[in-house]
Amino acid sequence: MKKTVLIVEDEKAILDILTLNLTIAGYDTICAQDGKEGLALALSEKPDLILLDVMLPYLDGFSLCKQFRAQDKLTPIIMLTAREEERDMVFGLELGADDYMTKPFSVRELLARVQTNIRRGDTAPEGAPSRNRVDLGRFTLDQERSQIYKDDQPVDLTQREYDLFRCLTAQPGRVVSREALMQEVWRYDYFGDVRAVDVAVCRLREKIEDDAAHPEYIITKRGAGYYFNTDLE
Ligand code: CA
Repeated sequence: MKKTVLIVEDEKAILDILTLNLTIAGYDTICAQDGKEGLALALSEKPDLILLDVMLPYLDGFSLCKQFRAQDKLTPIIMLTAREEERDMVFGLELGADDYMTKPFSVRELLARVQTNIRRGDTAPEGAPSRNRVDLGRFTLDQERSQIYKDDQPVDLTQREYDLFRCLTAQPGRVVSREALMQEVWRYDYFGDVRAVDVAVCRLREKIEDDAAHPEYIITKRGAGYYFNTDLE
């Protein structure tokens, strides 16, 4: 089934380029040219991913993101920002955005980010268990399907969250630094701001921990990074 991308962007030229390229890449698109309309469409149309400009009429991208996240925790959001706003982007991630891109961006990279952030959902056909499974106590990592299971129930992750989990569980108990995670999982430069990793770990914890406020699996090693804990049973 085709995935749908909502584009919230008031610059008509950028909107047209995004619509054209996403359509060619096989996505359905919905468009909004101001923040209020964008929020309404995000909630009513349930897109698979949202591309969200920051500076918008009526309601800015940050406020939209915050209001949307109060009702929907899962739909990935990629924020589009002018270069001079980049320092604000970690703020955007803290409000619940999954990623950001700085204008001008290459269409090829944008399409790659869309693919990385979109929820995996129905991409993994169920059937006989694949052979490439890693047992991690209550968790199972199915590398063939890029899917993780908790207590045999599939956990709904974005591609990046899956990559983060895979990276942390590659060697359980070993501390992985934020810089290493940034390099392994993001594979591009965030201008050294590793807080993006902390934000992503928080969101992953919300999906996999019993109580995200008291994590038992993804543990913070102060000043060093994170590790995956398997010493529970
Ligand atoms: Ca704008």
